[in-house]
Amino acid sequence: MSREVCNRCGKVTRPDDVHTCVPKALQLVATAHLGYRVGWQREAAAELRRLHAENERLHQINQSHETKLSVRGYELQIEDLKSAVAELLQALKDATDAIEHWGAYSSDYFQQKWDLHSDINAARAAIDRAEGKI
Ligand SMILES: [Zn+2]
Repeated sequence: MSREVCNRCGKVTRPDDVHTCVPKALQLVATAHLGYRVGWQREAAAELRRLHAENERLHQINQSHETKLSVRGYELQIEDLKSAVAELLQALKDATDAIEHWGAYSSDYFQQKWDLHSDINAARAAIDRAEGKI
């Protein structure tokens, strides 16, 4: 039958054993006043090392979860921004089409005076550049 060491109290147990346990660190605390207890300092030092290693292991796990969560947060923000950009691009296309359409009603003199085609071309070039990036 396989045996394992309980990671709380240090008892050797079998996997199907149910035991109530007092964590090793608390056992050591409870006996700290017994200065004469043989081996107490050695046990305490070993338990501190074990707890430190466990703390480091959990800290590592925590950090990788935090990193995953923040990456997911950025991914969600990027999705929101992409949909905002798509909506703005469509609005700019519609506005550019409308200006081109309305501008055609003004006389050639005013179209040239206000350089209507340059404004429309600049807007269309900006749209093309933005579409190349998303
Ligand atoms: Zn235990």
